Amino acid sequence: MKPDNETVREWGGKRYHSLNYFLRGKFGHKVFKISLDAGFTCPNRDGTLSTGGCLFCSAAGAGDFAGNRGDSISQQFAEVTATMHKKWHDGKYIAYFQAFTNTYAPVSVLRELYYKALQQPGVVGLAIATRPDCLNTQVLDLLEEIKAQTYMWVELGLQTIHKKTADYMNLHYNCNDFQMALNNLRSRNIPVVAHIILGLPGESHVEMHQTGEWLAKRSIQGLKIHLLHLMNNSQLALEYKNRPFHFLTQNEYVDMVIDCLEILSPDVVIHRLTGDSPRDLLVGPAWSLNKWETLNYIDQRLLERNTWQGKYYNTRITAL
Ligand code: SF4
Repeated sequence: MKPDNETVREWGGKRYHSLNYFLRGKFGHKVFKISLDAGFTCPNRDGTLSTGGCLFCSAAGAGDFAGNRGDSISQQFAEVTATMHKKWHDGKYIAYFQAFTNTYAPVSVLRELYYKALQQPGVVGLAIATRPDCLNTQVLDLLEEIKAQTYMWVELGLQTIHKKTADYMNLHYNCNDFQMALNNLRSRNIPVVAHIILGLPGESHVEMHQTGEWLAKRSIQGLKIHLLHLMNNSQLALEYKNRPFHFLTQNEYVDMVIDCLEILSPDVVIHRLTGDSPRDLLVGPAWSLNKWETLNYIDQRLLERNTWQGKYYNTRITAL
């Protein structure tokens, strides 16, 4: 279909507001995220809430591409950036605390680790991934202190607004917890990147869309949309053996992603539009291994559907 040139929105040739585009605009050059495993655990794995973890969580605590848990922050950083530096001499970095729950430790420990990451060469900011129920006042104070000194955002898991799915997935938090954490972070002017998962077992397309719609009405600054990719070291892989469920096809997933994008504010930065896992850990869907093909297909479908991020934000979200 021919695009409507009067209203179509693009960000550096993409029909969504990509993180790459945003960071280039903010810092004036390419910025890479360096995924770190700072050795944290999670209340949903250490027995505080449960020992099983969220059913989809891998043994690496969602940090399957992060640095080596046994190494210091400096070592992890040096190892990952060494190869990047060969290609991008003036590359800048966001230190990304990715694996497990990165606010789940005494504040003195958090402070030391966050500042250590900030001291690494080329680091221009921090990204901290956590659960909505792991942001007490002391942690929020620390985050606010760091936010005053550098560029920073917090990544907050939502996954779904539906209680039945949250319970089945053993999240031990729900959308009310997310809302409270979001309020606390936004009242301190800390940017929030929400995570959702499309394709959770038992969820219909309507229910997935409801999660996207719920988030579109909230003050988030970024969004990560993950595909449910099942890894063989997760609890969900055991469930799947006993009760196989439907994996989204690539077509279903791409159209669901676009349904979410077109009701989202154009100001929200898109941090991720796929989910991928190490090849040797993947149970399915197999098409998820080809991340670039999926991203290209999203671009193609945005054109075919003559749509873009935010196309219906004013008519379907702010008008409600
Ligand atoms: S909150 Fe994160 S680290 Fe903890 S069990 Fe769930 S996915 Fe894993």
